[in-house]
Amino acid sequence: MVIGGGICGLSAAHRLARRGTRVTLLEASDRLGGLGTFFPHGDRWVERFYHCIMPTDASLLALLGELGLRDSVRWRDTTMGMIVDGRRYPFNSAADLLRFSPLRLPDRVRFGVVSLLLRRLGRGRDLDTLRTEDWLRGLYGDVVWHRLFAPMFGSKFGPAFGDVPALYLWQRLGRERNVATRGYPEGGYKTIVDALRASIEEAGGTVRTSAPVRRLHSADGSAILTLTGGEVVGADHVISTLPLPLLRRIADDALAHHLPRTDLPYQGVVTAAFFLRRPLTGHYWTPVLHSGTEFDGVVEMSALAGTEAYGGHDLVYVMRYTDRDSQLYLDDDAAIAARWTAQLRGLFPELSPADVAEVRVFKAPFVEPVYPLGYLARRPAVTVDGTNLMLATTAHVYPEVTSWNSSVALAEEVTSRIATGPAHPVAAEPAR
Ligand SMILES: Cc1cc2nc3c(=O)[nH]c(=O)nc-3n(C[C@H](O)[C@H](O)[C@H](O)COP(=O)(O)OP(=O)(O)OC[C@H]3O[C@@H](n4cnc5c(N)ncnc54)[C@H](O)[C@@H]3O)c2cc1C
Repeated sequence: MVIGGGICGLSAAHRLARRGTRVTLLEASDRLGGLGTFFPHGDRWVERFYHCIMPTDASLLALLGELGLRDSVRWRDTTMGMIVDGRRYPFNSAADLLRFSPLRLPDRVRFGVVSLLLRRLGRGRDLDTLRTEDWLRGLYGDVVWHRLFAPMFGSKFGPAFGDVPALYLWQRLGRERNVATRGYPEGGYKTIVDALRASIEEAGGTVRTSAPVRRLHSADGSAILTLTGGEVVGADHVISTLPLPLLRRIADDALAHHLPRTDLPYQGVVTAAFFLRRPLTGHYWTPVLHSGTEFDGVVEMSALAGTEAYGGHDLVYVMRYTDRDSQLYLDDDAAIAARWTAQLRGLFPELSPADVAEVRVFKAPFVEPVYPLGYLARRPAVTVDGTNLMLATTAHVYPEVTSWNSSVALAEEVTSRIATGPAHPVAAEPAR
């Protein structure tokens, strides 16, 4: 039994079904895809949250190969912009950096030199126990930290960014080392989700949507799942892909006792998808710093995916990672859409009201686990001692960046343990 129909659950169920294991996937919402899910727009489907594939996403690309979708990925060279104090800058080349007036010339030079050497400077260091702020401030200096890094990367983790292990950033820089080239699957992420579902079902597996697990009991070599409406299902093995706080909510007392004690905070996200009648920046990603907006980044999806997928419109996402209890997260979607439209037009005065065809606001409560220092040693095991439950969650992909690629790799790892491991119960293992 697999709980959760995001990429991790889908690829785990695909792997198990293809190995001949009888598998059922249970997804709470009426649509598969999890954080990569989509909404109908005209005669197409559009992702709620911007997504792209990097050339380094080896596990995901291998899965796409199996599904016959490897050649459907359209690769493009994309560019990056930067908005600081309301002014726009290109941010791609040494020449761009030399003209980047938000930093003084010596800071620009230092920024360029350190950035070139950064991965080398981190090699051999114990970055898992080094605070990101201490690492970056030491290398780039206080000005670059305050003007650029704290707001730029801090947006993902909130005020705790400085405390997150520097290893996270190191891994992220590795994933994005060929920053210009990004991929997007023809037909969107729904094509991948549909292919995975078809593969599971063809191999005899079952995929159920609108099937939230309300209660999970797992002890003494068996598992019992209670669904909404009272339906009760038994299983030999369970893989949960739910964020740990959601798993804790459905675990019964017996299981709760076995679950990892790790109490990770999670950042959520608020995004607004703008369908525009004109292009905005031409850059895929533009951080927005010190500019008085509530959002702190702009992703111009049509710079990667073109406009055809969006009914001829340019699709621009703006985003703010935030706590699920924050005022912004709790705010009404229509109010956010109105405020963010005004703020976007403030940054881009050439954007007239008539240029904004449609705005859709989306939220997700559990996106980025906020990793504490030394998380490599504290990361929970994928097996849960004394139960036949296995965990495959975004809290387990560290130090990899949370992405479709790392979820696919994790699903491979967890399912291979089920195929080869002892049936009842799964043996305990050291923290991974
Ligand atoms: C704004 C944003 C941008 C991103 N950009 C990228 C990108 O460019 N490239 C990239 O690769 N990744 C990107 N990601 C990250 C990526 O989407 C995630 O890392 C990945 O989708 C996590 O997949 P998952 O299956 O582990 O979890 P999830 O997608 O969270 O899936 C968990 C599933 O469990 C279901 N569920 C919850 N409770 C229950 C229950 N009780 N019973 C049954 N089901 C339940 C949920 O509905 C959900 O479908 C982005 C994410 C966001 C939010």
